[in-house]
Amino acid sequence: MQFIDLKYQQSLVRETINQNIKKVLDHGQYILGPEVNELEQSLAAFVGSKHCIGVGSGTDALQIALMAIGVKPGDEVIVPAFSFIATAEVVSLLGAKPVFVDVEESSYCMDSTCLDAAVTAKTKAIIPVSLYGQCANMEEINAFALKNSLVVIEDAAQSLGAKYKGKQSCNLSTIGCTSFFPSKPLGAYGDGGACFTNDKDIAKAITQIRVHGQGKRYHHAQIGINGRLDTLQAAILLAKLDLFEDEIIKRSHIANNYTEVLKDVSGINPPLLNNNATHVFAQYTIRLSDRNALSTHLEKQGIPTAIHYPIPLHKQPAFEGLSDSNLPISCRLAEEVLSLPMHPYLTKADQDKVLDSIIEWAEQ
Ligand SMILES: *Cc1c(COP(=O)(O)O)cnc(C)c1O
Repeated sequence: MQFIDLKYQQSLVRETINQNIKKVLDHGQYILGPEVNELEQSLAAFVGSKHCIGVGSGTDALQIALMAIGVKPGDEVIVPAFSFIATAEVVSLLGAKPVFVDVEESSYCMDSTCLDAAVTAKTKAIIPVSLYGQCANMEEINAFALKNSLVVIEDAAQSLGAKYKGKQSCNLSTIGCTSFFPSKPLGAYGDGGACFTNDKDIAKAITQIRVHGQGKRYHHAQIGINGRLDTLQAAILLAKLDLFEDEIIKRSHIANNYTEVLKDVSGINPPLLNNNATHVFAQYTIRLSDRNALSTHLEKQGIPTAIHYPIPLHKQPAFEGLSDSNLPISCRLAEEVLSLPMHPYLTKADQDKVLDSIIEWAEQ
């Protein structure tokens, strides 16, 4: 059993992928070729935002978003302590300071009630992370940002396709950033990402920053980076996009099947769903106090698991000295979370094997 199986999916669209790659090899526009624009249009329509700009990775998307709103050395950006490093890393890369706040035990996402204590005169932006595929409490976070004149950038690297109060993830704040890393819900065969916004000026800034701050060729209006989405990756994503909506439904069926059983297993806490929201289950992540014993038991039966993430960001050596706060929920989650095999094509037999093995372990 694979933790995330990308092979079966490929067999469903291999022909289209081959054709799309062939088209790129024929026209030869490897940098910002027509497929990039085509994908941007399709994704903007899917998300419901006015602008989509394809970029080199989810990390580039976050960095470019911060650059587009003018985050500079000395500024502060509020981020959740429980996330992948990229959320906070890009803040530091720009010379600004990530200010870590705790997350909610129920959703694993940024706790909006912690914002008040974290904001200062230097705060420029907030980056809530839609962790594992479910959005944070965006309404409260947006309201807080509005009151304090801050920009909200959604780190939607794991949540493309999720809905929050009827709107799509990536279209819930000033800028939404997603990733096409191969194992993300919409994954390429290499690195890729995208920024979404409804703001014309921000869209223009992002479009320039991804190409060295260039407006016209060799005319550089601002400092940018080399942060473009590859034409070949866009061509591959266009083929995979045909499957995407069906895959989200399949993921949610598998998650429901897991939760239906696991909610009655003592000691295991399955993920909780927020009201008025949907979850795309980039990861299906349970919590339990004896995580290592269970993962060892599952590994013996050939069932892979993963830990997202074993160290909260404020405890990472890379951010040493930045935060002296405790952030107890983030610390506890880092010790208790365990992600189970999850991908749209996980068979019923494999799901049952995972569940039976967990029950067997819990009852021993
Ligand atoms: C994957 C991920 C990123 C970074 O995306 P890349 O495409 O790998 O650069 C950022 N934030 C979160 C929460 C992620 O899961």
